[in-house]
Amino acid sequence: MEDSLTPVSLEAVAHQLLSAVAATRTLSDDLLVSLSLIFKHGLLQQALDIVDRKCITRMKCPANRVFYQVAGSAGRFYICLPDSNYCSCMSYVFSVLKSESSYCKHVLAVKLADALAQCLEQDIDDTQYLTMLCASELNETGQPLGQQAAGPSSVRA
Ligand SMILES: [Zn+2]
Repeated sequence: MEDSLTPVSLEAVAHQLLSAVAATRTLSDDLLVSLSLIFKHGLLQQALDIVDRKCITRMKCPANRVFYQVAGSAGRFYICLPDSNYCSCMSYVFSVLKSESSYCKHVLAVKLADALAQCLEQDIDDTQYLTMLCASELNETGQPLGQQAAGPSSVRA
C-alpha cells in the first residue's frame, strides 16, 4: 500500500469529504474524484454499489441507540457501527483491524448512504436490538449454521 498519509489523517480527510456530501445530499463529480483519491478504487466502487442497491437500514431503538444493518450480496446481514468503524464482516477483522484499510466496504457504504440520506429507517425495540447485535456476533465468531463461506478451508494435517 502506498498511502503517504497515516490512517488517522486519511480518516480526517474522509470525514471532511463526507461532511461536504452531507451538506448538499449529493455526490458531485468533484467529491467523487476526491473520494477516489483516498479510497482504493475497488472499495469505493463496492461501497457505492451497496448504496445504489438501497440495502442499508438504520435501526433505532427507543433508548436512541442506533446501528446499521447492511444486506450483503450473499444474503447475509452485517451490523455496522460507523462511529467506531466497526463492522461484523470478516474484512473488518482481516483488513481494518490490521490497519490495512480504514473502513470495510459496508462501513464506507453506511457513511456515504448516511451523507446522501439514502438509508432506510426501522424502529426496533430493545429486545430486538440486543438479539440482532448478538446474532451478528455469533455469525462471525461461531460456525455459520446455513452458509459456509466459499473460501479455502483450513485443514490441519
Ligand atoms: Zn464490513
